Amino acid sequence: MPSQRQLFLNHLAQTSEAPLMLEMTSAEGIYMTDVNGKKYIDLISGIGVSNVGHRHPKVVQSIKDQVDKHLHVMVYGEFVQSPQVKLAEALTKTLPENLNSVYLVNSGSEAVEGAMKLSKRFTGRSQIIACHDAYHGSSHGALSLTGSESFKRNYRPLLPGISHIQFGDNDALSMITNETAAFVVETVQGEAGVQQADVEYWKAVRKRCTETGTLLVLDEIQCGFGRTGKFWAFEHYKIKPDVLVSAKGMGGGMPIGCFISSKEIMHVFTNNPVLGHISTFGGHPVSSAASLATLNVIQEEHLLNDVSEKEQLFHLELKHPKIKAIRSKGLMMAVEFDSYEVLKPIIDKAIELGVVTDWFLFNDRSMRIAPPLIITEEEIKKACKIILQAIDEG
Ligand code: PMP
Repeated sequence: MPSQRQLFLNHLAQTSEAPLMLEMTSAEGIYMTDVNGKKYIDLISGIGVSNVGHRHPKVVQSIKDQVDKHLHVMVYGEFVQSPQVKLAEALTKTLPENLNSVYLVNSGSEAVEGAMKLSKRFTGRSQIIACHDAYHGSSHGALSLTGSESFKRNYRPLLPGISHIQFGDNDALSMITNETAAFVVETVQGEAGVQQADVEYWKAVRKRCTETGTLLVLDEIQCGFGRTGKFWAFEHYKIKPDVLVSAKGMGGGMPIGCFISSKEIMHVFTNNPVLGHISTFGGHPVSSAASLATLNVIQEEHLLNDVSEKEQLFHLELKHPKIKAIRSKGLMMAVEFDSYEVLKPIIDKAIELGVVTDWFLFNDRSMRIAPPLIITEEEIKKACKIILQAIDEG
């Protein structure tokens, strides 16, 4: 009989020649346990999802409660479904007044697709600007925005009318004009290896978008939902987007995403044509219930209060001549080494020693560290000690 590992290789579509092939049978808090009973510290939250930890009891309870009421009953937007309504209300309460209308979907890419369509339809324009090294998803529209030629090359033709500018470069903002429907940008670039821009840049972005009637679409799929120490990353930069995109950590381990805008902007989906954007499973009741519980956990358990101290602790503990730099915003961190060739054996060794990290899609010499926000100081020290050991032995 073929083993489960062999069946995985035989029957599940593969996305690389060298999958990690860890076989987890349970996960709780910051820990995952494999088929041999070996316990791992999850330092990447699989990836950027388990912000409140794996199987948070309140998230699990909300799922069970909803399963006992109903699963899918109707496509998005027709029936008044309590979990969706409660979630949308709670989300808007975390946001500035202009972000008061939520469109729930199933994933990050889908949320980006919706935001692109919304921007085109509202402005009547078709051009969109995004950034080099940005990652926005794998579907055709989101891939068109993604700022890596090697990821796109073999999937052309992609969407026309999309240009890329350098993230953080004020001069490049002149590319945004009266013809631009949207500037789609990650508030903190994730797959580029945690790249940040300063408050001045963001002020200039906001100004340019307002001047040109371009919608500012912030992708917070990776950096939102508490990851950077504020509920939304844009709060660090004192600007307001016109459209906000979320997913990943939003579901507490369940699949869900959304794009949020003003009622006025979102209204365009109701006419010409009616049902301008539709989704069967968008805002699935079980995912919506889990997402509301996740939001409540972050707020009620004050998970954001000590993110900054935890971030500093990682900086303090991770000192080694092979570490060239650490870039971070809250618990979204990139630990840079000389090259992928140096980093890869360190990641492999850390996994062997029971700590799961990773690299980034567009920055393969940096180690991804994005643990569940519930990680304790003791656990951080333990994980860092293992990483240092992996650096020495890797
Ligand atoms: N945008 C960003 C910033 C992301 O990090 C991701 C996922 N890595 C996506 C979009 C796409 O999300 P999904 O994989 O859920 O489609």
